[in-house]
Amino acid sequence: MSVLDRRLALLGGLAGLSACAAPSKLSGLPTFDLPPRLAPVRADPRRLFDITVCTRPFRAAGPRLDTEMLGDTLVVHNYGHGGSGWSLSWGSATVVLEKALARGDKNLAVIGCGALGLTTAVLSLKMGCSVTLYAKDLLAQTRSVRATGSWTPDSRIALTEPAGPAFADLWERMARISWKTYRSYLGMAGKPVEFGDRYNLADVPFDQSNAKYFPPASLSFAHYGSRIADLMPSVQTVPANTTPFPVPYVRRTENLQFNIASYGQTLLGQFYAMGGRMEVREFHAPSDFTQLKQKVVINCTGYGARALWKDESLVPVRGQIGWLIPQPEVTYGVNYRGVQMLPRSDGIVIQMLEGGDMRGYNDASEVVDRAEAVEAVSRIAALYPRGA
Ligand SMILES: Cc1cc2nc3c(=O)[nH]c(=O)nc-3n(C[C@H](O)[C@H](O)[C@H](O)COP(=O)(O)OP(=O)(O)OC[C@H]3O[C@@H](n4cnc5c(N)ncnc54)[C@H](O)[C@@H]3O)c2cc1C
Repeated sequence: MSVLDRRLALLGGLAGLSACAAPSKLSGLPTFDLPPRLAPVRADPRRLFDITVCTRPFRAAGPRLDTEMLGDTLVVHNYGHGGSGWSLSWGSATVVLEKALARGDKNLAVIGCGALGLTTAVLSLKMGCSVTLYAKDLLAQTRSVRATGSWTPDSRIALTEPAGPAFADLWERMARISWKTYRSYLGMAGKPVEFGDRYNLADVPFDQSNAKYFPPASLSFAHYGSRIADLMPSVQTVPANTTPFPVPYVRRTENLQFNIASYGQTLLGQFYAMGGRMEVREFHAPSDFTQLKQKVVINCTGYGARALWKDESLVPVRGQIGWLIPQPEVTYGVNYRGVQMLPRSDGIVIQMLEGGDMRGYNDASEVVDRAEAVEAVSRIAALYPRGA
């Protein structure tokens, strides 16, 4: 136990329950609000067991959620969710199902088994529909499985002007529906969804650190977070001497995270338990949809829609994650020197974010860059000095 740990333990012990709200002499934070013991991350490039890359399906106007008729088949689109696909999935599914069910036909085909396809299928089953999900790749092979797994509902979701105010309203509705739905996945066995502390750490004041690692974007990415400020836990300044990190500037907040291995299993379990059917099938042209026996088809093909629907408005935004071997004792995330660390039950996410929203923009390469992953791990390793 370090000297600081002993002093904190003594403070807590002496304080007793009734005095817990008193500010700690060490920090100014109420004693009950002091950071708990934070297990160190074994941040060593030799513990990288995988490096994954995928493209976010970004559209300047926001996701495509409109409808079109192909002969007697109603196609409802549900693709193009940028860096927010998991976060907005339930809200987006709700919006497209309102359109899909407008004709009263509850026999649906859902194309795609990523975040959007699977949640759309599960929600339709909950609404009493009969659903067949068709996809070229099942969940484990989709791009969705390679996501960070955080609540990031306005991450590269649109550009402000092309999306306009109507989309901002729609976004808020989708975000609120998703947040509420995720509530029902908290507290489940296997922790498919859980809250966790996040520490933002800096060597210099945050405005200087942000300017260095996250320069202003040359495109006006839409940021709608203030519209749901009432939902989000606030940010707290934490005295550096109450954490083990060797940095002078510390902020803490909490966020929802999706443990995608467990969450995916939960969604698939719900899908099959409610009678969903799944078929591996590739579609080569929109007209292939008209061959299906279902006459209402929801198109959740993500970045695949660029080739399938010849949708050139879809811009790839490359993202890479290095995966460190899981450490169940690590229960907090950090952001430091442009790198994010997020401990999921299926691996510790180490992701280079330097450059901000423009990072990976219009880059369709899904080739692994190992040097980037090693650099990202090294920056996080600096938080856990091992001595000489
Ligand atoms: C590095 C990275 C980190 C991210 N982190 C987060 C995060 O923390 N939080 C968040 O909310 N979002 C995050 N995202 C964004 C999120 O991953 C995407 O928005 C989401 O995966 C899009 O899901 P989707 O279902 O539309 O597409 P996909 O996952 O690509 O699924 C598409 C499905 O359609 C099928 N398909 C495609 N074309 C055809 C075809 N022609 N015929 C048949 N089937 C077809 C595919 O096989 C697949 O099953 C991240 C993205 C990246 C790259």
